[in-house]
Amino acid sequence: MRLRLRWFSRPEDRFEAWIAQRHQESVLSGGTTPSGPCPDEAFLKSLARKSKQIALSDPRVHHAANCPICMRRLLELRPAYESRRRRLVLTAAVACCCLIVAAFVVLAHRGANTPHPVADMAAVPETLDLWNAGTLRNDQPSPLQSVTLPAALVKVTIILPRYSEPGKYAVAVMRDQTGNDLLAQSSAAATGNGDREEVSVNLDLRKSRPGSYFLSTTHEQDQASYYYPLQIK
Ligand SMILES: [Zn+2]
Repeated sequence: MRLRLRWFSRPEDRFEAWIAQRHQESVLSGGTTPSGPCPDEAFLKSLARKSKQIALSDPRVHHAANCPICMRRLLELRPAYESRRRRLVLTAAVACCCLIVAAFVVLAHRGANTPHPVADMAAVPETLDLWNAGTLRNDQPSPLQSVTLPAALVKVTIILPRYSEPGKYAVAVMRDQTGNDLLAQSSAAATGNGDREEVSVNLDLRKSRPGSYFLSTTHEQDQASYYYPLQIK
């Protein structure tokens, strides 16, 4: 119904535009007599941008519609407002596109980060009690002191053997006692817990295959390394 009405009003619009055109020509050629003085520039600008604040009953509107000077000024001003409106629409469209692009970038960035949630994953807490480990310095340890860790990101708390010195310890996991084929390494200061010294470190053993390895503890000051057979499961 609405569409139909619009359809019928089209020739009417064209007719009105034609009348306006004839009137404009008549005004510009000095065929009309405007009443009253010319309104100021601000009013003409408001009129040019079709401000809704202007009432058609305003005598200045009547004047401008019949004054060749005001009409010329209005015809000059109108394209500026038209292009400004077009520019605003364009700016808004560009801003919209930028927002969409920014949203995509953020989402893509997040997407790129998602393959590493494991890194944020909490480390598996493990405690290795070496209190009674009677190891020999840089020598074959007794099979009894064998320890086990999972192939995971572990937060391992090592209860160091009795008589261990306080200080910083480096903890490493390696394939053999020569220190080659290092799988993971980390160091931390030992904390005294009663008469015991404990050291807590994070070891990333996610890439290690299950099997036999060595866990070593090295005191930062005396550089003495102790090796314990380690099973990764
Ligand atoms: Zn005028």
